[in-house]
Amino acid sequence: MSVMDIFETMDYGPAPEGASPALAWLKEHQPFNLFINNQWVQPASGQYLDSVNPANGKVLTQVASANSADVDAAVAAASAAFEKWGKTPGHVRARYLYALARQIQKHSRLLAVLEALDNGKSIRETRDIDIPLVARHFYYHAGWAQLMASELPGYQPLGVVGQIIPWNFPLLMLAWKIAPAIAMGNTVVLKPARYTPLTALKFAEIVQESGLPPGVINILTGEASQVGEALVRHPGIKKIAFTGSTDVGRSIRRATAGSGKKLSLELGGKSPFIVFDDADLDSVVEGVVDAIWFNQGQVCCAGSRLLVQENIADRLLSKLLIRMERLRVGDPLDKAIDIGAIVSSTQLQEIQRLVARGVEEGAQVWQPSWACPTDGYFFPPTLFTNVSPASTIAQVEIFGPVLVAMTFRTPAEAVELANNTRYGLAASVWSDNINLALDIAPKIKAGSVWVNCTNLFDASSGFGGYRESGFGREGGKEGLYEYVRHAWEAQLASPSGYTPTGRAANGASSSSFTDSLLAGIDDELDGLSAPETIELPAIDRTSKLFIAGKQARPDSGYSRTVYDPAGRAIGEVGDGNRKDLRNAVEAAHKASGWATGTTHNRAQILYYMAENLSVREDEFARRIVQQTGRSHVDAMSEVQTAISRLFSYAAWTDKFEGGVHRPPLRGVVLAMPEAIGVIGIACPDDYPLLGFISLVAPAIAMGNTIVVIPSQIAPLSATDSYQVFETSDLPAGVVNIVTGERDALSQVLAEHDDVDAMWYFGTAEGSKRVELASLVTGWILYRVRDKSFYALLPRSKISGFLMENSCNR
Ligand code: NAD
Ligand code: MN
Repeated sequence: MSVMDIFETMDYGPAPEGASPALAWLKEHQPFNLFINNQWVQPASGQYLDSVNPANGKVLTQVASANSADVDAAVAAASAAFEKWGKTPGHVRARYLYALARQIQKHSRLLAVLEALDNGKSIRETRDIDIPLVARHFYYHAGWAQLMASELPGYQPLGVVGQIIPWNFPLLMLAWKIAPAIAMGNTVVLKPARYTPLTALKFAEIVQESGLPPGVINILTGEASQVGEALVRHPGIKKIAFTGSTDVGRSIRRATAGSGKKLSLELGGKSPFIVFDDADLDSVVEGVVDAIWFNQGQVCCAGSRLLVQENIADRLLSKLLIRMERLRVGDPLDKAIDIGAIVSSTQLQEIQRLVARGVEEGAQVWQPSWACPTDGYFFPPTLFTNVSPASTIAQVEIFGPVLVAMTFRTPAEAVELANNTRYGLAASVWSDNINLALDIAPKIKAGSVWVNCTNLFDASSGFGGYRESGFGREGGKEGLYEYVRHAWEAQLASPSGYTPTGRAANGASSSSFTDSLLAGIDDELDGLSAPETIELPAIDRTSKLFIAGKQARPDSGYSRTVYDPAGRAIGEVGDGNRKDLRNAVEAAHKASGWATGTTHNRAQILYYMAENLSVREDEFARRIVQQTGRSHVDAMSEVQTAISRLFSYAAWTDKFEGGVHRPPLRGVVLAMPEAIGVIGIACPDDYPLLGFISLVAPAIAMGNTIVVIPSQIAPLSATDSYQVFETSDLPAGVVNIVTGERDALSQVLAEHDDVDAMWYFGTAEGSKRVELASLVTGWILYRVRDKSFYALLPRSKISGFLMENSCNR
């Protein structure tokens, strides 16, 4: 093509990026060994694997194939390094992270080319998106290393962390994993994806150059079945951080259940891209390009479901088809390419299979008229219309440049379609009406919602999923909690089993969890005095269950006797079963309005509960004495602490508010903590009232609705609180209580599809079973999920909006 031709046709000429420095670097290092203790170590197997360039199918180099012996060596190195690194002052760690960020910037071009060669993604994206975000991640977390002592007081690193990452953003996922882990004082063994190990190996060289202490970062290349599984099972590892497919996430949940390993899972998605009829359609078209054709569509949060308001669907689709025709697929190292190669032939075949399925299912397929290069693994941008919401291509993650379009009429229908998925990673909302956009965004069950923009990421803003998209957050302050735990948690022990009458077999059972519930009791109760010991009155009443705001008889028609420590019967409670739990979960779902009501209202109700409990504090104290045999003074302080706890969570209700992030992008990010949904809670046995209130109060304060299994041996404090709930204006269904056998009931709750999280206190065995049953949703925590809105609105519009408001006043 001559210059004159180019001038005539206005076509792009080739703009190739030179690959020779990267190829020379590969040649110099080949074959690549494992990175353990800042040394390059030959793999125990003596085996090496090819790494391929998907743009031409040719082998780039060989990398070591690690096995479990290498995992043992790497974990040993990381454990030894943790002894020192975990105690290194934050400022020192900050300097190392800062050094890593600087080195990444220094080598940015080599990294960008290597990434394009190994993964097939375009140099335009690796150069302008992947690598700058990698550096930003290390800078940002250098700051958290510096601030850890002051901003996360009482928190400790976990120890050795095993990290497993996918191939779609190889170096960026490495940064997302390693930066927060080492900033918080952990040491790391990381496994890059099989298809894309090369930038991680260049990073290892950077670690050496930056002089990090040996063993802080270890990198093992190899097969999932060898390295990945050995990491997951290794007893020396305290946490697994995983990004990848939902199926593998499930298998890791299963493998780590009961091991005490902390776990975060960033999994797949099928994210909606919602376009309202007042959106700027030309911006929308560019948004779609970024949503589904960025990184060949191999993006976990890709906007792969286009939901368009019916009256503009034809107009948008015709614009989109014109734009698709002009997209350019080809050599990733050509700077004027929009779409590079699919990572491997297997992935390409999977995309082809699902597209063929879409055609079989009767959807209409649209592709550009031009053909893709054939010497590598390429696939054209693809659009499906006439898609039924239940079809395979509308539900299954295709993980390629394939978009499915559906229409809706009303905003309510848009929300319903958007949430019609097992995933919940991200969404974009397009509308020029700020009221509509901000009304819709919180209604979508997804970790990130972009308003008039899409696929934007920043280290300052937490990212992560709901439902089968996994749990845990990466980025922002919220992401740090995945890599630390509070000092009291480190001492958690599991109480041992029960005798049939219910007392703990080891006599006075004590778990450090409940000790920690009482920690600070003196501070909280300073100045309060408890009355003298009172005689034990005999109270006999059979408590029912508490479901949907009503006292309900158990479905089984059976009761359980409650005994005092001397083995005397002191009361009866209902023996709840599967059916009662089903009703309770249903009631909890119906009460979901609790989450969308005002925080002020929730706070008021928690204060009211405290007030009503305090009116009857003596009665509650006597009940504790009766069930536990503790002194009345002691019991009274338990009641007082429970009241104080209710005050604390009432206070937090309208103060745990998230934040506004200012990423180095146009626009702002609102990070809003959001209720998880319906939470199942199994209470600890000691401190029958405080153990109950301390779990109920934070869960409902944050807008969750709950199904609670009270202490199995001392349930009467919980059943006595029905009246407290009833007199405190607590809406029906927010708190549901089912008494009975803790572990059997927990199992049912954990297996229940409509229970979003389970908070279990009991035995190690019971906890393992809950973890096994929960698969992806996990054994969750008392932290609330954060949701990010990237509201990319023109600044002028925001200030105009605020001015209008102030004029009105
Ligand atoms: P994958 O789950 O097959 O592999 C991910 C990583 O896990 C790889 O390193 C792999 O070697 C390893 N692995 C595989 N089986 C394992 C096992 N049994 N035990 C331990 N490790 C194992 O996924 P993939 O094909 O590499 O990546 C694509 C998937 O990742 C997509 O489903 C995508 O949605 C998801 N993804 C999610 C996010 C996110 O942040 N949520 C980001 C990127 C990709
Ligand atoms: Mn490769």
